[in-house]
Amino acid sequence: MDLPVECTHCKVLMTSWSAPGSPVRYYQCPFCCRTFSSAYGEVFRRRAGARVVEHRDPAPRPASPAPLATPEEIRWKQLKSRAARWFARLEAEEERVSAYACASSGARTPSRHR
Ligand SMILES: [Zn+2]
Repeated sequence: MDLPVECTHCKVLMTSWSAPGSPVRYYQCPFCCRTFSSAYGEVFRRRAGARVVEHRDPAPRPASPAPLATPEEIRWKQLKSRAARWFARLEAEEERVSAYACASSGARTPSRHR
């Protein structure tokens, strides 16, 4: 079963893939990165974020297909966001460390008399 699934937030087709040997199919929006799997059919029925696109149009191939991200692009995007989080954390850490260094050096050399 390979139905096109649309992200109801971004109105784009979601990239779908399935793990080898698994009947569960996964769908991910290339824009907002919401991920759903076909195991949660009720998600689609309730339209909580993704829905199965119904083909009422008899045209087999639309002239301008919705943008589809390849799994590589998605992986790269995830990697980038993970890297961004990592750097943000490093930055916060650095700030804390430098603040601590300032405080300790200030305590070690109190500038009371000039
Ligand atoms: Zn989306």
